[in-house]
Order: sequence, then structure tokens, then C-alpha cells
Amino acid sequence: MFGCGGDAVTTPPSGFDGQIEVRYVSSPIPPELDAAVKFAVDKWTRALYKNLGDFRLQSPAAQCFSHEPKLNEVHHNLLLFVSVLPDDGPGNELAYTDVCQISGRDQLPVLGQILIDSEDLPRLLADGRLQGVVMHEMGHALGFNPKTYTPKNLSAGGSNDPVFTGAKARAEFALHGAWYTGATVPLEDLSGVGPRDPHWRYRVFGDELMVGAIAVGAKSPLSTITLGLFQDIGYDVDFSVADPYEVVPLFGGNRVVPEQTLKNDFRITKPPEVVSPVVIEAR
Ligand SMILES: [Zn+2]
Repeated sequence: MFGCGGDAVTTPPSGFDGQIEVRYVSSPIPPELDAAVKFAVDKWTRALYKNLGDFRLQSPAAQCFSHEPKLNEVHHNLLLFVSVLPDDGPGNELAYTDVCQISGRDQLPVLGQILIDSEDLPRLLADGRLQGVVMHEMGHALGFNPKTYTPKNLSAGGSNDPVFTGAKARAEFALHGAWYTGATVPLEDLSGVGPRDPHWRYRVFGDELMVGAIAVGAKSPLSTITLGLFQDIGYDVDFSVADPYEVVPLFGGNRVVPEQTLKNDFRITKPPEVVSPVVIEAR
């Protein structure tokens, strides 16, 4: 079937002790995508740390998503499957992320997948947006999503004005966007899912990494506000990894219009399986 997917029984690399283990479940993986994934793993790993524990992953093939391999292993921290497969044709949904399992101890993801639409990949490569898209999707996979912050009661508001309410994200937003007089921190208000929205509000945040849009030429900076969210959901955070970023008021013409959106790129319909860490001797 697909590379190391299908019915293969997966085995973690012995002694895996990192924050994010990526396994590809389609082939071929273009070297440019592999480089973008490695860059994102390195950057997120420098920015975030959390010992989530070890999890017994035991499930038949395709339990969470169609090309998911059969699992039978004990895995440390996050296992993230990445694939390049046809999704919805060129030009629509560029990529999406789903979280299959979260830890019952702290609601952080321990099993997830990112799918890059194979029919959009050539254009993402050609116009320089692939790195931003991979960083963005990995942010969702690490916990920038309502499957993590809703159980922690860290979002509020109706569909007109949803906000993330974590203290550190709010404090960082106040430092970099003092001009904004509304409730903070504003989540996207155009999707209709209210406080379950997985993105910062585009009209306020512009080209920040975790807005639901990515334009050609966007730098997609990883802000201290996004890192504040990750501290609020339970990670230890190194704020020095953040890129320079200020929340700039939206005056006419100073924003690039997003060429394509990422607005439906986190699957919020199916609840994740909740799993508990296991105790492993002599780890
Ligand atoms: Zn997204």
C-alpha cells in the first residue's frame, strides 16, 4: 500500500525520547517536504517541552484515518503521521491535521496526522509556502486546537467574538497588540464554530503563523503570543525561539489578501480517544 503504512506493525525507534516523532505513511516523500518537516520538528522542539509520558498505542489499521497503519507499541510523547495524498483537488484545502488521541492527564495530543494535499504540493513548493504550511499544521498537531483547549476551559465567547483566554497568551498579546480594545485573545470569527475555532483572527493577526490563511510571500512568524498559548495549555516554553512579530492594526491596504485559506484544516468533528500514560520500568 503506502510505504510503511498498510498492515505493517509499527515500531518506535529504540529509545525515542524526543517531543515529536514523525513517520511518513505515503510515498514518495519529496526531499523538499522532508526538509520542511525536519525544520518544523526542530523549531517546535526548541520552542516547546513537555514529558507527556509513554502511551500504549494498540489499534487496527485505519482506526483514526484511512491510511493509518496498525499500531502495537509503547510510544513516548507525540507520534505524528505525515502523508502526501490526494485530498480535494488543487486549490482548495491545502493540508489538514487531525488529532487521534490525547492524553487524559493533560489533554495534549499523543497521536495525530498531517495530510498534505498532493495536488497542491507542487504549487506550495513553487511559491514558497510549504514551510509555513507544515509549521502551521504541526502547531495544530501539538495542541493549538480545540481538542486541547476546550477541555481546559481556555476559550470562550460566542461565534461573533470567540477568544482564547489563557493568561500567558493574553499577556503576550497585550505586550504586542496594546492598540486592540476588544476581548483577548481573538480567535477567528468567520468560521461559525465560535470558541472551537483553531486559528487566531486573521483581521487582527495578519500573517502570524496560526491564522487560518497563508498568502504567497507571508512570513508566517511564530509569535510569543502563540508560544503563550502553548504555555497556557501545559508546555514548558522557550520564548527566545519566537520570531519577531507585532500585532499591527488593520488599516486599509496594509494587509495582503490571503490567496488560499487554511480555514478547514483542523478536523474538529470527531472527538479524540483519551488515553492514559503507562508506567514503564527501567526507562
Ligand atoms: Zn490551521
